[in-house]
Amino acid sequence: MSRRLIAGGAVLALVAVAALVWWLRQPEPLPEFEGSRAYALVEAQTDFGPRIPGTPAHDSTRAWLVERLQVHADQVVEQRLRIPDPRDTTRAFEGANIIASWQPDLRRRILLAAPWDTRAVADNDPDPAKRLRPVLGANDGGSGVAVLLEIARLLDLHPLTRGVGVDIVLFDLEDAGTTDPAVADSLRIPFAMGSEMFVLHNPTYRPQWGILLDMVGDTSLRIPKEGYSVRYAPELVDRVWAAARRVEATAFVDEEGAAVQDDHVPFLRNGIPVIDLIQTPFPDTWHTTEDTPARVSPESLEQVGRVVVAMVWGPEADGPP
Ligand SMILES: [Zn+2]
Repeated sequence: MSRRLIAGGAVLALVAVAALVWWLRQPEPLPEFEGSRAYALVEAQTDFGPRIPGTPAHDSTRAWLVERLQVHADQVVEQRLRIPDPRDTTRAFEGANIIASWQPDLRRRILLAAPWDTRAVADNDPDPAKRLRPVLGANDGGSGVAVLLEIARLLDLHPLTRGVGVDIVLFDLEDAGTTDPAVADSLRIPFAMGSEMFVLHNPTYRPQWGILLDMVGDTSLRIPKEGYSVRYAPELVDRVWAAARRVEATAFVDEEGAAVQDDHVPFLRNGIPVIDLIQTPFPDTWHTTEDTPARVSPESLEQVGRVVVAMVWGPEADGPP
């Protein structure tokens, strides 16, 4: 063999090794979040009808959510809820928080959450004749759950390998709250009853950080930085908006929005950084009979899903210890 041939072979081998090293050092591509899949999961929920606590549709939805999560998670548990109705204490709101966990034995954890129940009355409907009808809750209830069910599937396909466990928690009894300012304090029903009970009964649960998704599917999605999140978990807000910029989720706008009494507040009150991704001002379908799948878009769900993927699998995942 000629000396020139040997030299050529050596160069080729070096190039091959260099290419292999480069390839091995590339970050793994992020799992792909498909908005159309999430949209189908919004429709699957609205097919049950309104998911009002105490109704058969609410109970079949609960069973369906548990079943779906069991397919993908390492463990699914339910926290049954029974909260006396302040208007009539012989009655109670009954429901269940649903908790799906991946690698439940790990101490370091991430929380992804969404409310799953829907409001009994469309008391914000522009037509007074419709204000006693129920809300279908495609966006308010359906959208956050749909994104997280799709994230559950991705967690199954792309398990995390950096020693952090994930909990997807679907909160019940979020949306029965009193909005009428004329109602006396002692008769008011609070919002976010399910997360309040979750925090109360899990005092040692301290995830590193958490994200709550609520009303993230409107066709004209616009998510400013929610007020309580900015005040009590500013570092996490910055990290999520950095992820949004990187994945070009343009619905995430760099301005402060309203402060919303939502499922993240009981966590913030206990010093746990959980932020709320929510459209404010609320979309005009909010608490109306127009909150239907027609007013939710796969593109909006996809933007939010891509941001969650970046936070769970991407370089933004690990903030300061
Ligand atoms: Zn609501």
